[in-house]
Amino acid sequence: MEKRIMTAEDIDRSLHRIALQIVENNHGVANLAIIGIHTGGVFLADRIQKLIQDREKIELPTGTLDITLYRDDWSLASQNPIVKKTSISFPMEEMVVVLVDDVIFTGRTIRAAMDALMDIGRPLRIQLAVLVDRGGRELPIQPDYVGMDIPVKVDEHIHVRLAEKSGADEIVLVDR
Ligand code: 5GP
Ligand code: MG
Repeated sequence: MEKRIMTAEDIDRSLHRIALQIVENNHGVANLAIIGIHTGGVFLADRIQKLIQDREKIELPTGTLDITLYRDDWSLASQNPIVKKTSISFPMEEMVVVLVDDVIFTGRTIRAAMDALMDIGRPLRIQLAVLVDRGGRELPIQPDYVGMDIPVKVDEHIHVRLAEKSGADEIVLVDR
């Protein structure tokens, strides 16, 4: 069974709000960079980047991180995410880096992302934006910017459909 939890309009409004909150919390966009986590997070990071750029009339540096599970079934919590590929072509020293992902669950992906960032450079600050916080954290990691909070059972899954890949935006909750 599928239950829609965010429409295209909901997603658009959330991304506008998150973009504005990022600028507000950082008192502008000086030294700001956006890094998307492969794959959903990359599309969302691009959108947030464009929204901020349109508003502030500046270019924001962006990058991507590709993180997958060490073993293959990501549906199981407590598995180990590893960083497959980093694509960050700006110096992170003195930068405020906003990580963007579609869903946060256990927090392990973000932990791996932060480890990778620290290996590359020394950001002044790392912040986290996610479209959906499904709860179920196994680490003390919380997002700074959240589209929607929705507690999801371990045997449920959130489908994040984004126009870039699925033709239209929509977020649905499904029983496995
Ligand atoms: P975590 O590492 O926090 O347990 O899981 C977060 C990562 O797994 C994110 O990169 C996210 O894309 C993916 N993920 C975890 N749960 C879900 C879910 O219910 N739906 C989707 N689409 N991705 C999920
Ligand atoms: Mg992911």
